[in-house]
Amino acid sequence: MSIETAIGLTTGQPYAYRRAELVEPDWSRFPGWRDVTAEQWRSVQWQRAHCVKNVRQLRELMGDQLDERFYDDLERDQRERATMSMLVPPQMMNTMVPASAPGRPGAMTDAFYADPVRHYMLPVFSDRRTDWPSHPHATRDSLHEHDMWATEGLTHRYPTKVLAELLPTCPQYCGHCTRMDLVGNSTPVVDKLKFVAKPNDRLGDMLDYLRRTPQVRDVVVSGGDVANMPWPRLEAFLTELLEIENIRDVRLATKALVGLPQHWLQPDVVDGVARVASLARSRGVQLAMHTHANHAHSITPLVAEASRAMLDAGLRDVRNQGVLLNGVNADPHALLDLCFALLDGAQVTPYYFYMCDMIPFSEHWRVSVADAQRLQHHLMGYLPGFATPRIVCDVPFVGKRWVHQLADYDTERGISYWTKNYRTSLEAADPEALSRHYEYYDPIHTLPAAGQQWWEEHGRLDEGSLRAAEVAAASRRTAALQAY
Ligand code: SF4
Repeated sequence: MSIETAIGLTTGQPYAYRRAELVEPDWSRFPGWRDVTAEQWRSVQWQRAHCVKNVRQLRELMGDQLDERFYDDLERDQRERATMSMLVPPQMMNTMVPASAPGRPGAMTDAFYADPVRHYMLPVFSDRRTDWPSHPHATRDSLHEHDMWATEGLTHRYPTKVLAELLPTCPQYCGHCTRMDLVGNSTPVVDKLKFVAKPNDRLGDMLDYLRRTPQVRDVVVSGGDVANMPWPRLEAFLTELLEIENIRDVRLATKALVGLPQHWLQPDVVDGVARVASLARSRGVQLAMHTHANHAHSITPLVAEASRAMLDAGLRDVRNQGVLLNGVNADPHALLDLCFALLDGAQVTPYYFYMCDMIPFSEHWRVSVADAQRLQHHLMGYLPGFATPRIVCDVPFVGKRWVHQLADYDTERGISYWTKNYRTSLEAADPEALSRHYEYYDPIHTLPAAGQQWWEEHGRLDEGSLRAAEVAAASRRTAALQAY
C-alpha cells in the first residue's frame, strides 16, 4: 500500500474559512503518557528525555493500540529505506491522530497509517513506492550544497545570501529531510557525512568569510536546527555576526518552534533572544525566525505561545517554510487550513512551501511540477498577499524558483527546464551558465503511460547515458515540433 498521488483538487470551492481554535491534544490518550503532568509536558528536559527513538520506545508508548503489522512495517523501513533515523519529540507524537480513534479493533492502527504527521515523521515501508522508490536522478545532496561550501558548512549559492549550517543535528528528524546526507545519525541505508573541522573553528571560518565578502548581506543560520545548539554558543555566534557591517538580514531556522516549542519558551532562551533582537534592532538588522510546519495539526496552543514569545522578545517576524508532501498536505484545503492556523492562531507568516527534493526513497512524497502549479493557483485569493505562500521548486544548481517560472516542460517525461540569472562559484568560468537549461524531474508514477514507458527503457541507465538519452529525446521532440 503506497500513498496514491491524488491531488485533492476536487475539494469544494470556495474553501470555507472558519476561525479555528487551536487545541493541544490530550497526551494521556497514549498508554505510556497516562500519568504525565502538564508541568512535565512543558519541560524541555522531559520532552527531550521522552522522544521516540526506536520501535521499542514506540511500543512502550502506544501499548497494544497499534497492531504488529505497523511495527513490522516500521522496522522494515528502518532497515531498508529510511534516510533519517527516528527521533520524534512527545510534542510531535501528540499531534498524530489527535482525537481518539473509534474503538473497533484495528481502528487506531488504520488512523495511524492515515495520519499526515505520521506520514513524514514515522514513515513505514508500505508508504513508499515499489515501482520507482527513488528517481534515477535522486542524489544524497540533491541541491549540491556541499559543492558550494565557501567554508565547511557555509553554502554560498545565491549572490547575496548564504546558508550557515552550524550543526548537523535537530531535536526531531523528518523522514524527507533534504539534508539527509549530513543531518542526523547514520541509518542502515545512509552513512552520514561528518563535518571535519572542530565546531568553533568552523563557526570562526564562517564569520571570517562573511567579513571578507561584503556582497553577502543575508544569512540563514541553520543546521540541522539551531535549537540544538546551546543558547550561549548560539548567542555568541549571532553577536559576532551582527558586528559585520554588510549583514542586514539574519534568519534563524528552527523546526523546533513547532516540534519542541518548549525549547523556545525557556526563560533563559527568551531573554537571550531579546538581547540579540535588541542588538539587531539597534544596528538596523532584520532578525527573524523561520520554522517548518507541514500540517495544521502541528499548530497547537504551545506552538502559538512560543511564537508569541519570540515576537514579544523582538523578532521582526516568524515565518513558515513547509514542504509540499503527498500524503501530508498536497491538497488545497489542507494547505489553507495550515496557513490560517499559522497566521490566525500563532502569528506565523506562511512564506514558502518547497517541493520535496529529489533525495533517495522520496518518490511517494513528491508531486509533479504541474500539480504544484495547480496547488499554487488554488491558494490564491484567500490570504493577504504578504501571507500567501509561494510554492517553490529548489532546482539543482539553480536555487529556488516559483513553480510557474519554468522555461520549458516536457510533461510526457516529467522533465521541467529552468534557467538562472546569476553565476555561483561553480560556474564562474562557464560561458553558458546563464543560457543553459537546468532540469528538475517529476515522479515517474505521475507521468502518462508513454512517459513511464520511456523511463522503463532508459531510467535504469547510469547517469551519463541517461542524460545523453534525455538530450537526444528532447532534440527529436524539438525537431518534430519545428517540422510541424
Ligand atoms: S528539522 Fe529540518 S534539518 Fe532537521 S530533519 Fe527536519 S527537515 Fe531536516
